[in-house]
Amino acid sequence: MARIPIDIKTGKVTDQREIIVGIDLGTTNSMIAYVDGEQPRIIPVGHASNGILPSAIHFDIGGGIVVGHAAKARLVSSPQSTVYSVKRLMGRTASDLTEEQRKLPYTVISRPETGILDIVIDERVYSPVELSSYILKDLKDQASFLLRQEIRKAVITVPAYFSDSQRQATRQAGELAGFEVLRIINEPTAASMAYGIGLSREEAKTVMVYDLGGGTFDVSILRIEDGIFDVLASQGDNFLGGDDIDLAICRHWLKQYAIQEDQQSLGELRVAAENAKIRLSEVTECEIPFRNLVLRLTRTELEELAEPFIEKSIQCCKMALKDSGINVKELDEIVLVGGSTRLPVVIKRLVNEFGIHINDTLHPEQVVALGAAVQADILSGNRRDFLLLDVTPLSIGIETMGGLMDTIIPRNSKLPLRLAKQYTTSRDGQRNIRISVFQGERELVKDNLLLGEFILKGIPPMPAGLPRIELVFSIDVDGILSAKARELRSNQEQELEIRSAFKLDQEEIISRLKESVQFADSDMKNKVLIDARNEAAYIDQNARKFLNNNQTLLLPEEVQLILQKLAAMDALAGSEDAEALQHSIDAFNRETAAIAHKVMDIQIQQSLGGSQVDHLT
Ligand code: ADP
Ligand code: MG
Repeated sequence: MARIPIDIKTGKVTDQREIIVGIDLGTTNSMIAYVDGEQPRIIPVGHASNGILPSAIHFDIGGGIVVGHAAKARLVSSPQSTVYSVKRLMGRTASDLTEEQRKLPYTVISRPETGILDIVIDERVYSPVELSSYILKDLKDQASFLLRQEIRKAVITVPAYFSDSQRQATRQAGELAGFEVLRIINEPTAASMAYGIGLSREEAKTVMVYDLGGGTFDVSILRIEDGIFDVLASQGDNFLGGDDIDLAICRHWLKQYAIQEDQQSLGELRVAAENAKIRLSEVTECEIPFRNLVLRLTRTELEELAEPFIEKSIQCCKMALKDSGINVKELDEIVLVGGSTRLPVVIKRLVNEFGIHINDTLHPEQVVALGAAVQADILSGNRRDFLLLDVTPLSIGIETMGGLMDTIIPRNSKLPLRLAKQYTTSRDGQRNIRISVFQGERELVKDNLLLGEFILKGIPPMPAGLPRIELVFSIDVDGILSAKARELRSNQEQELEIRSAFKLDQEEIISRLKESVQFADSDMKNKVLIDARNEAAYIDQNARKFLNNNQTLLLPEEVQLILQKLAAMDALAGSEDAEALQHSIDAFNRETAAIAHKVMDIQIQQSLGGSQVDHLT
């Protein structure tokens, strides 16, 4: 049970955690789940205890939209105003439509400029994103009703092979349905998580995820290590699944019985075939009433009919293994996904072929949604033991002179990690140094996120540049960042621990990354200017020290020249013109070099002086 804090004075629930759902947006069926306390649960939408919502959309005459079982039922009675398999068209353009995809029963048109596909129903044009959003919206509304809480945030799954544009389209569909989409994750990753695979950091495994759904087959080889799910290979057949088996049953019956072959009765026959197939997971033979007939099918017959399709899927598995470079012996387990893996013959074939442990204790059509819910739960911060933190999402660094960001830990560094860097002071006799830790990709700290600050005190007074301050950053597997500063000459040290270094959510991280690209140019210009200003300040400080220390060695006109060049440089340091400032710095260095050399030569002679005199006399 989840613990719910209650305000004792008012009796009100004070801090009910927001539920984040996981959604499997499937080609045939969709499903939504959440974590209740510790247990991932399917939300029983569609008035079905199994929570299956067929991914079908029907447009009725009055302009109403029907989703789910009712829409699926209309596939037979009014196929022209009912859509299914929309997922096949998500984020696709005319050029990546295969021959087979062109055979979809509804009319697909492509937009002239972009080639983006739209679907025509009853002379109206819909985008796949829009159609998918109807399914997601229905899941959202039903779940909000059933959980008595407005559901706003979601994790949505996609096949491992989905391209960026397909993922983007899925995200858009979620947003259109009113969700804040926290993450798009791979279906095989979700399925593995539902079985708890990869949820502990010590675990390292290689898993094959076998997903035989309604219309598609996907197999992925995952390497799971340190909580990172790596897709080593994925293979599949976009037109292989339960639908093929239903059609094979229809053909079998058409040969045996006198059935009319008009569109209506063929549609009904498919429904009957699917029913028979599903019942045969429980019983070894069944009879289905169909119009004036009773159709019979045995499990043995079904297995024979299904065999060629299973064989095809096994060939895909072997290809995926080959692609991944993994030997069957290195595979630790198989995860079963998809309603069609309920065919008992599937497990038999997999055992024969690979002979390793098969995870089949969860309902195969539910595992993806359940795993997505586990991921959602992790993102909501409910699982303190497991932060989904494989790499640093943004760079971490400190503020240096002029407000510049100096990155110490680059983004995407693998955790845990420890990195050190040395700094020094910029002022003579500086006793304290403030260390401000920022996160972000921008060149100026003011555009990044301040994580924390601390002051290293008690540095013994030394000339600027002499103290050696070592800064060590480490981040452990739980994402806790600690920063330690130590002055190496005096051993003074100070430490800072930042527990919430990665509290940003995905959206914020993405928007920050986008900003860093967007402002790259102006950031770079700023950085060049600040670098030049820092250099000018450094030169100014040292030049004045030089003048002070060497009064007796310098001619008045030399002092004059130095002061004049300094004044020119300092005047430009206040301007925004980095180029002119850099020129004045270069001019200063060039024109005073001879004076500096002269003084240095005199100093060297003086320091060698004693022995030289001895030697000469
Ligand atoms: P998808 O991922 O493609 O959306 P699902 O994983 O929900 O689809 O699988 C749907 C398919 O599973 C359908 O073809 C359905 O007929 C099939 N199916 C469901 N239950 C069984 C069963 N007991 N035996 C065989 N096939 C089944
Ligand atoms: Mg699926």
